[in-house]
Amino acid sequence: MKPYDDCIHCGGSVKEKKERLDYRYHGQLFIVENVLVGVCLQCGEKYLKATVAKKLEKLVSTKKTVWKSVVVPVVSAI
Ligand SMILES: [Zn+2]
Repeated sequence: MKPYDDCIHCGGSVKEKKERLDYRYHGQLFIVENVLVGVCLQCGEKYLKATVAKKLEKLVSTKKTVWKSVVVPVVSAI
């Protein structure tokens, strides 16, 4: 059994990688490094396993493991 289904957007195969991920929790943006995500080899769409998503949520809700904070500039296109 494959750990990830094929990409729902393009049908490409999805491979597990360690990526840096933008993660939003209660409106706050976290950047989580070294997250195991499935990445579509064709279009780059990322897929999170339910177990990993749960772990991320726990991680950011406790905020015990914050290494560094960076300022993320937000611009409006309007
Ligand atoms: Zn794809």
